[in-house]
Amino acid sequence: MNIAKVGFVSLGCPKATVDSEHILTRLRAEGYLISTSYQDSDLVVVNTCGFIDSAVRESLDAIGEALAENGRVIVTGCLGAKDDVVREAHPKVLAITGPHATDEVMEAVHQHLPKPHDPYTDLVPPQGIRLTPRHYAYLKISEGCNHRCTFCIIPNMRGDLVSRPVGDVMAEAESLVKSGVKELLVISQDTSAYGVDVKYRTGFWNGRPLKTRMTELAEALGSLGVWVRLHYVYPYPHVDDVIPLMAEGKILPYLDIPFQHANQRILKLMKRPGNSENVLGRIRRWREICPELTLRSTFIVGFPGETEAEFEELLDFLKEAGLDRVGAFAYSPVEGALANELPDHVPPELQEERLARLMLLQEEISEEKLKRKIGKTMTVLVDEVVEEGAVARSFADAPEIDGQVYIDGGKHLKAGDRVEVVITDSDAHDLWGDLVL
Ligand code: SF4
Repeated sequence: MNIAKVGFVSLGCPKATVDSEHILTRLRAEGYLISTSYQDSDLVVVNTCGFIDSAVRESLDAIGEALAENGRVIVTGCLGAKDDVVREAHPKVLAITGPHATDEVMEAVHQHLPKPHDPYTDLVPPQGIRLTPRHYAYLKISEGCNHRCTFCIIPNMRGDLVSRPVGDVMAEAESLVKSGVKELLVISQDTSAYGVDVKYRTGFWNGRPLKTRMTELAEALGSLGVWVRLHYVYPYPHVDDVIPLMAEGKILPYLDIPFQHANQRILKLMKRPGNSENVLGRIRRWREICPELTLRSTFIVGFPGETEAEFEELLDFLKEAGLDRVGAFAYSPVEGALANELPDHVPPELQEERLARLMLLQEEISEEKLKRKIGKTMTVLVDEVVEEGAVARSFADAPEIDGQVYIDGGKHLKAGDRVEVVITDSDAHDLWGDLVL
């Protein structure tokens, strides 16, 4: 087996040395070998110093030597912070980071020299251990959340948003696709905030720059040739930017966007953005751009202080918005959530009654919307094959939470197959179809 070897040049002060140690430790921990010669290395990392002119010269010379002797060079350290100086002198370097940037250096190394995998010693396969079937996978892009919705304690438990380096996310996505995954489900606590914490820093994927931002990530994922589905998209204005990607077929025209309520006073009590007029206007515009768009949302019913009129405003919103998929929950206090302190909690019986009314209305909306699909041809992804035939999903159905498409006579199919069906029947949740032969 050919083990990936990294050459390392460490210049500068003790702080830079510590940075070098961190990077070397990570490289070794991930199974890379550290090589002592340029010729024997698959790539070279140069940790630079930029303190005084002579140090800058020495660093630039070291980069030049590594390029001449090896050709594949990643620059880090203080001179790396002056990205333009390095690029001007050595335009061919693979990537440049500033000091204290172990994660970014590792991201660049992963891009240019994939992480070694030893099937005899590694406990996990290259695509990691997965709990989902082989043909779809969840791709977590960040952890934590910068919002403080009053019904939620996730930020207390997981802290503020921390985005994964975009190169790492893409490398994981590629590895999943190579292992047979046909659908990537992008998840996080707040997908549209991806990259806010790192100021949308530019990372690298396959040697090309890629911003740590939802739209750019979605487009890059869309280029992998599999279904890409976005979940937990907080309703920021820039969500508008991903709709054209859906219209162009780059990612699935599916948006899971929790609105939580439609009444402005309740949204304010929840510390959520939006007013229903704006949201309805945006939904209209999204559908003009991408008529196929499937919208899934979640709502909380019976939030503290919710009046009958405010609840009815939510029902009116649902009628007007015509959302395709809706999950709704009766508000229940979570220990530590600020909403617990709000006055006028809605009695449980009333909450349940409102929940039932909302679900009934949504069922009618859903039934009507699914009926309109009869006669259409759709591409579906097979999830499993049972006694009666194959059970699949269309672009409009996320696994576990949305509906299914039952295929008559699809017993020869297998999980992960993508096939065309003509829709023949529907109910409030699911579709039935025949294979297009
Ligand atoms: S509900 Fe979602 S957006 Fe709001 S604080 Fe919790 S995790 Fe963040």
